[in-house]
Amino acid sequence: MTATESLIEAADAHSAHNYHPLPVVVATADGAWMTDVEGRRYLDLLAGYSALNFGHRNRRLIDAAKAQLERVTLTSRAFHHDRFAAFCAELAELCGMEMVLPMSTGAEAVETAVKTARKWGYRVKGVPAEMAKIVVAGGNFHGRTTTVISFSTDPEARADFGPYTPGFAIVPYGDLTAMREAMTENTVAVLLEPIQGESGVIVPPEGYLPAVRELARERNVLFVADEIQSGLGRTGRTFACEHEGVVPDMYVLGKALGGGVVPVSAVVSSAEVLGVFRPGEHGSTFGGNPLACAVALEVLAMLRTGEFQARAAELGEHLRRELAALVGTGRVTEVRGRGLWAGVDIARAYGTGREVSEKLMERGVLVKDTLPHSLKGAGGAPRATIRIAPPLMIGKEDLDWGLAQLRGVLGA
Ligand SMILES: *Cc1c(COP(=O)(O)O)cnc(C)c1O
Repeated sequence: MTATESLIEAADAHSAHNYHPLPVVVATADGAWMTDVEGRRYLDLLAGYSALNFGHRNRRLIDAAKAQLERVTLTSRAFHHDRFAAFCAELAELCGMEMVLPMSTGAEAVETAVKTARKWGYRVKGVPAEMAKIVVAGGNFHGRTTTVISFSTDPEARADFGPYTPGFAIVPYGDLTAMREAMTENTVAVLLEPIQGESGVIVPPEGYLPAVRELARERNVLFVADEIQSGLGRTGRTFACEHEGVVPDMYVLGKALGGGVVPVSAVVSSAEVLGVFRPGEHGSTFGGNPLACAVALEVLAMLRTGEFQARAAELGEHLRRELAALVGTGRVTEVRGRGLWAGVDIARAYGTGREVSEKLMERGVLVKDTLPHSLKGAGGAPRATIRIAPPLMIGKEDLDWGLAQLRGVLGA
């Protein structure tokens, strides 16, 4: 048995099988590259679902983490610590907002957004007790907690996990009429991904996000943008909402905010909205801890330079041109995305998304199929979709090499 095989067998024996990873066992990583236990190198075109926007072990982030490790790592929020104020102020500033509520994982931040919107609804909007409704979109991915899967449309994410949390209305993504009809006087928020990542990098029709923004304003409903995967440079702007000039009432952030080093998430909003909380009403032992704040402060400093956004925009143009050429050959049926983020539908003759991912792995490129395979594509055939989302600092030559491997797998 190879080292890879025995490590995978041991993992399978002692871990819950809630994932189906590609058969590669990573030992080290640097920048856009990972090396497995047998010394094989792989180009990382997934980047931890955007948690690694700045690359593996980015020097600035590792230095910031190391410096903080030598000072203080955890206080709990029972006490103040000296990195907290700067983290909140600088994150609020990046978002053009006033207040921050830090958590650790994305799902916790979404839960926080749901609780915030409900409380705002009761305390500020005046919704009768227990009546608050939140409108979400079909095909969404907002995490894995019991409440969050209560408003998922993915049967695999939901089955056997009920009873579900009430208070959500699900409308088709991109359908403004359905959104308008779903809103009642008890609606407190609409929660949307400005681009749906897990569903296959679905970009809504142009004008949809601004129209939702306007509708939410008219109806006194909070527009909550889950930018956990789309935000912090991925699309060529700091936030995906910016592409359509939209400013939500609340950002939900995670993934890249922790620089691929520690989990850091947050809800960012106005003082009117986040001001609803009083001590004891919400919290987390790890949210806003000193190590998390130190790393995130460095992430914020890197984002302020604009270089990652510019790079994602520029290299993203190149990525899209190259992928468009594959659509021309019929090997790829559709490409969607913005910046360094693409959903690539592979013609079914080349196998499932999983099979294409495995063939790419054999050539030294790591990607993942994105679509929950329970969802069906047009004509009833399951879509074979892979997501290309490299670290934003990837070299153009490396990206081109990765794309050459994709062409190789597709016989182009
Ligand atoms: C990953 C993701 C989440 C959940 O984040 P976790 O850190 O895995 O809990 C929520 N929303 C979106 C859009 C995501 O991509």
